[in-house]
Amino acid sequence: QKEMWARLVKEATKTKDGKRVELAANIGNPQDAVQALQNGAEAIGLFRTEFLYMGKAQFPTEEEQFEAYKAAAQAMGEKPVVIRTLDIGGDKELSYLEMPKELNPFLGYRAIRLCLDRPELFKTQLRALLRASAYGGIKIMYPMIATLRELRRANQLLDEVKTDLRNNHIPFNENLEVGIMIEVPAAAMIADQLAKEVDFFSIGTNDLIQYTMAADRMNEQVSYLYDPFHPAVLRLIRQVIKAAHQEGKWVGMCGEMAGEELAVPILLGLGLDEFSMSATSILRTRHLLKQLDASEMVAVAEQALALESGEDIRAYIQEHVISKL
Ligand code: PEP
Ligand code: MG
Repeated sequence: QKEMWARLVKEATKTKDGKRVELAANIGNPQDAVQALQNGAEAIGLFRTEFLYMGKAQFPTEEEQFEAYKAAAQAMGEKPVVIRTLDIGGDKELSYLEMPKELNPFLGYRAIRLCLDRPELFKTQLRALLRASAYGGIKIMYPMIATLRELRRANQLLDEVKTDLRNNHIPFNENLEVGIMIEVPAAAMIADQLAKEVDFFSIGTNDLIQYTMAADRMNEQVSYLYDPFHPAVLRLIRQVIKAAHQEGKWVGMCGEMAGEELAVPILLGLGLDEFSMSATSILRTRHLLKQLDASEMVAVAEQALALESGEDIRAYIQEHVISKL
């Protein structure tokens, strides 16, 4: 089986009926890009930049960040590289950053909330990202967006940095795409409004599930609630994809769910454009997608979403799709 997958490394991802989707890798540092390519990644769908900030004594400089982003972009050649701005807070702390003691860190001061509160820190990262965008297919993505106002404020800061770069004749990609993660249920609910002001969405199911179900993603005792197949989660995903497509924008998914065998047929049927996962899941997923009929999956997904529980939905996909391959 490994050998069969290996033959798929250089193949573009196509369903049985010829629909193209993109299979991308999640990475945590620029060196991971090599392994992503060896595993057949067509893009980087999520570059978590936290590694640059963690295990150090101070914030990384603009130059350090620039080198890391440029290295990732160059390693991927012309392929897209979606780089997520700092997603610190929640469970991820920095020794050199004084953080408030919070009762609910996952509902608190983290990610874009922190970045908008510390514009000098955020702008350093944006400047490094923009400069690196001259060297490859970089796209910028903001995490944890919950309101239009946050998106607009982040874009305003990005514009300020762009103006400054232009004034100093420092090159960057003027057509750089900017997108957001959809991982807060509020964002999923206003996806129609957000879609008008972004180039793309990437659905972060790891967080979207925990916030939708009000169940900590690390807490074993409530793990029965943490279910990617719960109809509430799937309906939110359906709504997000619809909203984006109505505005002509593409939608990816970079949560763990994107690489789950039982989820892939549903996500394909709902129209997901890009699936981003750990590199080692890519070939298995390409092999699966090759056997699926995208137009058939539209009906399968609709049937599945009408069911009453995650268990029912899993069983339905197992019986009607997976067992027939
Ligand atoms: C997510 O929330 O789905 C996601 C991809 O981000 P992280 O796992 O880094 O929170
Ligand atoms: Mg997240």
